[in-house]
Amino acid sequence: MKALNPLDLYDVRSLLSEEEQLVQDTTARFVDEKVLPIIGECFEKGRFPMELIPEIASLGLLGSSIQGYDCAGLNGVSYGLICQELERGDSGLRSFVSVQSSLVMYPIYAYGSEEQKQKWLPAMARGEKIGCFGLTEPHGGSDPSNMKTTAKKKGGDWVLNGAKMWITNGTIADVAVVWAQTDEGIRGFLVEKGTKGFDAPEVHHKMSLRASVTSALYFDNVVIPEANRLPKAEGLKGPLGCLTQARYGITWGAIGAAQACLKEVLDYTQTRELFGRALNNNQMVQLRLAQMSRQITLAQLLSLQLGRLKDKGEMQPAQVSLAKWNNCRMAIDIARDARDLLGGAGITTEFCPIRHALNLESVITYEGTESVHQLVIGKELTGANAF
Ligand SMILES: Cc1cc2nc3c(=O)[nH]c(=O)nc-3n(C[C@H](O)[C@H](O)[C@H](O)COP(=O)(O)OP(=O)(O)OC[C@H]3O[C@@H](n4cnc5c(N)ncnc54)[C@H](O)[C@@H]3O)c2cc1C
Repeated sequence: MKALNPLDLYDVRSLLSEEEQLVQDTTARFVDEKVLPIIGECFEKGRFPMELIPEIASLGLLGSSIQGYDCAGLNGVSYGLICQELERGDSGLRSFVSVQSSLVMYPIYAYGSEEQKQKWLPAMARGEKIGCFGLTEPHGGSDPSNMKTTAKKKGGDWVLNGAKMWITNGTIADVAVVWAQTDEGIRGFLVEKGTKGFDAPEVHHKMSLRASVTSALYFDNVVIPEANRLPKAEGLKGPLGCLTQARYGITWGAIGAAQACLKEVLDYTQTRELFGRALNNNQMVQLRLAQMSRQITLAQLLSLQLGRLKDKGEMQPAQVSLAKWNNCRMAIDIARDARDLLGGAGITTEFCPIRHALNLESVITYEGTESVHQLVIGKELTGANAF
């Protein structure tokens, strides 16, 4: 019998097509060679590694699921594998790609005019233009229907007022997809950097996603032409449709973070000698490692089946909620336990678990908190809306 891969005990890799395996290998090589050597320092310094964007783009990782417009046109499983490998490096890098691909390029592709697509998608695929997605507001992200940012029609233009909070890529973005309340309901707008009255200052003092840019967005009588409204986005289902895409990617990303932590503790407990033997010879330690392996395997199978449903056009939001909840919870539990298995050494960024554990505090919160996803599943099961 061939030896099992400790990070893929069920050989989920054998369920992937050749193209999917190639996408995974290409992304994994980039992460090993370019991300892992610098990411600990980026996290410590609170710096997003902008210098990696050209290579991320040249590998086809931006807007990878989009057909045409200089995008790679890969399937959903390949996008998931990209997220998994990137997040094995760092959740911040995966967040950058998720936002660019699922929260900015996807809505322009799905809801935008042909002119908007031509203007933004090829440049965003090449990494020459960066985008952000402004939905959450300071008074409460879990209830986006209580949106206070407004867009009022004035002649042929729109005038935006309000604020968004916790916006990934905000300060570095050339364009913000902004959701605002109009007299006809929620609509999406493309707000370009430098527009008068629009400001995107960075949020500082974060202890999580430190290698990612997080910002506030302020709109003070910002005038937007009708040509910058997303014509096919109507109501809250516009932004929620984007979030379903991004959350799907997160379910895969969380697996990568967990695998990185398991790899770290497998290596460490093999060489750490306590009480006259390697740490991994203890039953309690083996139980903890086995638990990690069990949780990762279940998460892998969940995301792969979700991806297959997505590629058949059958994926439903409640299924995404279940995987987002399960896989983020799995990853944060593993990262925290891995940190503990490293003892005192686990509190430094020399080892990855504490960085992943801190990052996953954001990942378990954004794009719907754990409680919100539990309520989505509860509603699916009972038909009763408990929000
Ligand atoms: C690093 C980072 C990056 C982000 N990037 C983006 C981005 O790019 N774009 C964007 O739009 N947003 C972004 N977000 C925002 C994120 O989506 C929100 O933080 C999230 O939706 C939660 O909203 P909130 O922070 O306002 O918490 P709240 O909505 O105030 O929730 C607080 C607590 O109440 C709980 N809760 C809420 N409602 C219920 C209920 N009905 N029953 C029981 N419990 C409930 C929640 O689970 C949570 O524990 C980001 C957040 C972070 C931290």
